Amino acid sequence: MNAPREPIAHDLLAALTAQADEFIAVRRDIHRHPEMGYKEYRTSDLVAEQLQSWGYEVHRGLGGTGVVGTLRRGTGGKSLGLRADMDALPIEEATGLPYSSCQPGIMHACGHDGHTAMLLAAARHIAQQVEFSGTLHLIFQPAEEGLGGARKMMDDGLFRLFPCDAVFAMHNMPGHPQGHLVLRQGPMMASSDYVSIVLEGVGGHGAMPHRAADPVVAGAAIVLGLQSIVARNVDPQQTAVITVGAFNAGVANNVIPHTARLELSVRSLDPQVRELLAQRIQDLVHGQAQSYGVKAQVNYQRGYPVLVNHAGPTELAAAVAEELVGAGRVNRQGPALTGSEDFAFFLQEVPGCYLLIGNGDGQSDGHGACMVHNPGYDFNDRNVAIGSAYWSLLVQRFLSV
Ligand SMILES: [Zn+2]
Ligand SMILES: [Zn+2]
Repeated sequence: MNAPREPIAHDLLAALTAQADEFIAVRRDIHRHPEMGYKEYRTSDLVAEQLQSWGYEVHRGLGGTGVVGTLRRGTGGKSLGLRADMDALPIEEATGLPYSSCQPGIMHACGHDGHTAMLLAAARHIAQQVEFSGTLHLIFQPAEEGLGGARKMMDDGLFRLFPCDAVFAMHNMPGHPQGHLVLRQGPMMASSDYVSIVLEGVGGHGAMPHRAADPVVAGAAIVLGLQSIVARNVDPQQTAVITVGAFNAGVANNVIPHTARLELSVRSLDPQVRELLAQRIQDLVHGQAQSYGVKAQVNYQRGYPVLVNHAGPTELAAAVAEELVGAGRVNRQGPALTGSEDFAFFLQEVPGCYLLIGNGDGQSDGHGACMVHNPGYDFNDRNVAIGSAYWSLLVQRFLSV
């Protein structure tokens, strides 16, 4: 059942539904031509041309392929940043859809095609029909998938050139009903760190282990030992993940290899837990290696930080969501996720909120219910109208006349 809505939200949804087909076509065009992080040449050309044609002042080059479109209206001194990501993933598409990727091995499997289309749809509507007072910056970022395009845009001066009082971003999420909006104050997405461990032992004959120092046995002990960090060192009320995604050693059954290599993914939802994990992993790896008589080299790389939604902007984001789709379709206590997101870098510098839009959770949602990063996933086009209406209403509420 729909909750009663304010007339403005009703009209807005109607207007953006009326123009949705055009932007669904844009979405499918981007989907057909996916580009990897920092290589979004065609996509950023398309974004820049459209923004320019609607009267936005367009700035290119931040983070390489990043695009910022700016619109100023009235005398208001406030400024708002809305962000969409543009990059695709190294996945071979298996949806069988008519607008499937024409790039072998590359696919929009995270819905960034949809995020870009939703923000473009909002951009045109806002430029042509929305009254506001202040400055609006639409930020189209490259390379969200692991390569830190958000950080790169900031290093290139994003918030110095385009100061924002608040920033918002929206990501689709399969498993939630289509068009429902999900958010939470505080930590919402996890930090993500990468650890490479090289164990150096002494290789030898498999029949004479006493003449070798076996890095395979040491590595096996380390894999098991790492599990004790989550089980025994982290507060049981906190979240932590240590995944050993790769353990490579040796080539033959009768040869003890000289080295072994482990690759870890480490996640947490609290900066202090993140530090604890870093310290304990390094201590444990070195301690275990020493006890097995092998040497360990640990390369600990910091990836994305914990994404923390700020209280004020989260309250506004939730209020706008309820105004648009009704309280019954808004979850203010959404789950924190152990995935990560480089919008976290923006939120370390500027207050704001990251929210999810349900991509579908049932059979009628087809590919929309399939999880992101799966070859069968597709962005749910029914969200183009709702997502763009959401951005339009947020602009009206944040930059009110
Ligand atoms: Zn992704
Ligand atoms: Zn994504």
